[in-house]
Amino acid sequence: MKPTILVTGGAGYIGSHAVLALQQQGYRVVVLDNLSGGHKDLVEQVLDVEFVVGDTRDRPLLDQLFRDYAIDAVMHFAAYIAVGESVEQPGKYYENNVGGTLTLLEAMVAAGIKQLVFSSTCAIYGPPDEVPIPESHPKRPISPYARSKWMVEQILEDFDTAFGLKSVCFRYFNAAGADPQGRLGEDHYPETHLIPLIIQAALGHRDSIYIFGTDYDTPDGTCIRDYIHILDIAQAHLRGLEYLLQGGQSDAFNLGNGQGFSVRDVIERAEAVTGKSIHVIEQPRRAGDPPVLVGTGDRAKQVLGWSPAYADLQQILTHAWVWHQQRHGKLEPDDSRENLQNEATLAVSPH
Ligand code: UDP
Repeated sequence: MKPTILVTGGAGYIGSHAVLALQQQGYRVVVLDNLSGGHKDLVEQVLDVEFVVGDTRDRPLLDQLFRDYAIDAVMHFAAYIAVGESVEQPGKYYENNVGGTLTLLEAMVAAGIKQLVFSSTCAIYGPPDEVPIPESHPKRPISPYARSKWMVEQILEDFDTAFGLKSVCFRYFNAAGADPQGRLGEDHYPETHLIPLIIQAALGHRDSIYIFGTDYDTPDGTCIRDYIHILDIAQAHLRGLEYLLQGGQSDAFNLGNGQGFSVRDVIERAEAVTGKSIHVIEQPRRAGDPPVLVGTGDRAKQVLGWSPAYADLQQILTHAWVWHQQRHGKLEPDDSRENLQNEATLAVSPH
């Protein structure tokens, strides 16, 4: 029988796609999610898993879960993810992202579970000295969110040294897109990410989108990011898990396509995909944003045999567009507009 995998944050955007990939390979999956950002309906309707609503900071719950389900390995996605919010509320990020992970690791050690795949971020590098950014690049994170992820990577090294707990960290560039069959996709509340915000505007659920910073030292003055398809990220997690289960040593891998797109590029391409024109409002820079983040998945390709199937931004945008139309297209614009305007206030207020 295939191993049983605990997926923390399995009701969230990246976690749910990883669960689907695990299921397709025949793994038994237990999802632990506190539903602070995840979606109960998607877990219940799309995923065939044991679903535990709870928090990684809850040690007794973790102990019980490891006992009840005989977990073999863990994929850890549960975390707060908004860069801007982390600048405003650093304690919230360290408490959950670092504290929650520490509790999880202690419980894993106590239960004798020795393999963890960790959801990290390319934001740990900070403004890069070279592009594409290699894994060996100095780590100079500039937001509490990114620092929390880098702290966890360092903690994982210590847990390997002390307890032989092996981990694979994936430092993703910008996760985007959706399940091509439209079963799962990105649905944050409040939404702070560029592509879903553009799509909300294309759907008429918001009047405009903001461009945060037009004075960066980039060709068009806006930030450059490397967008990677959510399914490719999910597949990498599967490869990382298999690598660990086969006795692989702890390691960390970038996941990117090696191609950068500015905020204006993304808007232009999204206009082509959706056939809608997007009204933009230029804003000052958002705190915590490095100007350029681009990297390849070359090491993951070499060591894990991973290869991206959807490296094309047009395809990424198309899958996201299909998903959002399915999930939110039928909302009454008036209902959704009220919510989304509140959300826009929240998303913008820290900057
Ligand atoms: N961005 C923007 N307007 C928005 C949201 C994001 O201009 O409403 C920019 C942001 O400053 C960054 C890029 O788009 O340069 C990608 O941001 P996102 O929040 O999607 O991902 P991040 O890079 O923070 O992980």
